[in-house]
Amino acid sequence: AANPGHAILSSLNDAQRRAVSSDAQTVAILAGPGSGKTHTLTSRVVWLIDYVGIRPEDVIVATFTVKAAREMKERIGKALGNGREKKIVLGNFHSIARRYLAAYGRHIGLNQKFGIADDSDSRAIIARICKRRKVELDPGTVRAWISKKKAKGNEPEDVPKTARQQATKTAGQQDLDECYEEYQAQLEKSNLLDFDDLLVKCVELLREFPSCVSNIQTVLIDEYQDTNGIQYELMKLFAQKNRSITIVGDPDQSIYGWRSAEIKNLWRLLKDFPGTAEISLEQNYRSFQSILNNSLLVIQQDKKRYRKALKPVHGKGSRPVLRRLKSASAEADWIVSEMRRVIVMSGSMLNFNDVAILLRSASLSRHIESALGKSGIAYKMVGGKKFYERVEIKTLIDYLRVINQPGNNDALARIMNVPKRGIGEVTIKGLLEEAEGSTFSVWTILTKHCRGDRNAKTKITKHAEQRIAAGLIRPLENIRKKIGESVGPTGTPFGLVEMIEQLLTALDFEKHLKTSYPDDYEQRWANVQEFMNLAADFVRDTDQSDDDFLPEIEELEQVKEDEMLPRFLANVSLASDAQTAEDEGEAKPLVTISTIHAAKGLEWPIVFVPAVYNGSIPHMRAEDSDEERRLLYVAMTRAQTLLYLSCPVFNSNGNGERNELSPFIEPVHRAFANKGPCFDRPIMSEIAKILGRQLQSEDAIFKAMPDMFMIEDNLFPVDPEDTRGASTSEITHGTNQPPRAKRQKLSGPGG
Ligand code: ATP
Ligand code: MG
Repeated sequence: AANPGHAILSSLNDAQRRAVSSDAQTVAILAGPGSGKTHTLTSRVVWLIDYVGIRPEDVIVATFTVKAAREMKERIGKALGNGREKKIVLGNFHSIARRYLAAYGRHIGLNQKFGIADDSDSRAIIARICKRRKVELDPGTVRAWISKKKAKGNEPEDVPKTARQQATKTAGQQDLDECYEEYQAQLEKSNLLDFDDLLVKCVELLREFPSCVSNIQTVLIDEYQDTNGIQYELMKLFAQKNRSITIVGDPDQSIYGWRSAEIKNLWRLLKDFPGTAEISLEQNYRSFQSILNNSLLVIQQDKKRYRKALKPVHGKGSRPVLRRLKSASAEADWIVSEMRRVIVMSGSMLNFNDVAILLRSASLSRHIESALGKSGIAYKMVGGKKFYERVEIKTLIDYLRVINQPGNNDALARIMNVPKRGIGEVTIKGLLEEAEGSTFSVWTILTKHCRGDRNAKTKITKHAEQRIAAGLIRPLENIRKKIGESVGPTGTPFGLVEMIEQLLTALDFEKHLKTSYPDDYEQRWANVQEFMNLAADFVRDTDQSDDDFLPEIEELEQVKEDEMLPRFLANVSLASDAQTAEDEGEAKPLVTISTIHAAKGLEWPIVFVPAVYNGSIPHMRAEDSDEERRLLYVAMTRAQTLLYLSCPVFNSNGNGERNELSPFIEPVHRAFANKGPCFDRPIMSEIAKILGRQLQSEDAIFKAMPDMFMIEDNLFPVDPEDTRGASTSEITHGTNQPPRAKRQKLSGPGG
């Protein structure tokens, strides 16, 4: 039992144990939400390393998000000990691909110092191409189209160009093809890879040089239902040595079809890997029975789905709540007052950390954010890119990108006049165009200007030239020279943090913020400080020897990634799916606001899903209504003990239009309670049991309970069958109730 490999089995059920210790070459675990798929996968990693004896560096684990990877690493680390988890090749597909490319990419002709073009970079490049070509296409649409092509594995040169096909192409398609080609050329020139390229290039690398992964013994993949075609290829290449693969997934939770995820990869796997051991997990450990059953009612409307059994291990619990409110702001106010009510009711068993508000689209967060703000409740945004989207942070990141890669024209264009250097939009555009039409980068052109080169095409005033030389070119060159050097009396190396410090001084960034944002410069400067902390944390957490796991290959020379800067920048770009700047170390409990997409795989005791109306979910622009239904299912199944769905009756555009309840809810809404959930003792103690927490004594709860429970009129007709809801209405609407009545109710029938 001292062996963690064994210990890990004891906490599992039979099916999970079979999956963890299976010696089948390929294992596929298809099971519903909360059945312990991720838990099982994590346990299997521990089992394989600790019991079977596979070296951590010979295991690849792919998760869907950076955040999920971090959590998994932590759990594996706890079970394994000795920091062995650090050697596992663990991350989402993009970050794994990036690491292989950084180490071996130059053998397929990649400049080793490649940068990553994130979504906004890609869009900016495409927007310029469209504009120059006078193509009337939305850059976002073009970007999505290109991304789809790449996800399927089509490079521009693969697009056939026979005369016949040319002739049958509509003008639009031809435009798209040409934009694609030019976009790709631009990326190459600036030595950038976009997110899709990371995967495409890694496939190329591993096809040509399988020895890069010749050490890999086994590959494990979470959230398999959302892999796309190119990720499937990558998985096969990772596992090419001995075809040992474990996947876990749930077709009902496939919600990335719009990003080319293909459910059919599931069936493809079973066909490509005959003899795959299929294991199903049928017990749900996450949620109260009533939450699970109502979620199932939603997903069961999909008649084409692959059916799986899923039974709750927990008790019935309180019913989910469905509520209609007047407006989006009333809805937000209700959500805030309801979460406070529940937390107070629970004594100190529940807190704001236990609450998540899951949104169909990030743009819905406005009302919620302001309602939370009014009440002084702290929150964090996931999937909303809140921190990295802030102007001052983006500017700093762009500076770092230019330091890392002077050829990054777009980043340079964005910072050229920040702080102000007397360079106008027109000049910047001129420089960009000049660079695009030549072999020089904007940086090189600027450098020439500053050296007084008279042949420069784009005209810049003498004054601006001087300021660019003194305020941009020289300081950045100085910083670049110092990388890796020892500085100061103690001889500490000039690292990432020192670099940012010097940058801030060279730019006089604080003064720049003061002049440009007199109203809120303090907040912005605080953000800059936070960015410094982030960099310091990154340096601390990133072991310089992290890449030692990569095999030394005779035919290939491995580039050691010994610079923090490119890694930090890659981390920043890839983290956009899960905000890492969230104030994690802080003790203050934070409510989570997240998109449903980014909430995949996670769970919270209390979940609110606002805006459940037609047009929001299903989204009015969504193509696949089944996928929208699955989204709602994913959202609902995140809840462990309390689930609230709500919908504003009136549209917030103020024209008096009414919102219809989402059709996905319509057939099942009678099953929901329309009052607040029941808070009698038995339920509270069940909640405590699920969460593994201590229930407070009743007296402690009453002391903490103020008369604060104002709730809007319930616009939803009372469900006559909902006796439980009705019986608790006194508590729910308790402002005018004497404290005594509350007390009797809370003690409840068997309490
Ligand atoms: P999703 O489909 O949403 O990703 P999942 O199938 O990956 O869900 P997990 O997140 O692994 O489910 O597990 C859900 C919860 O159930 C977790 O809190 C986990 O710790 C718990 N759990 C899983 N298996 C067991 C078990 N055998 N005994 C007790 N708790 C378990
Ligand atoms: Mg999971």
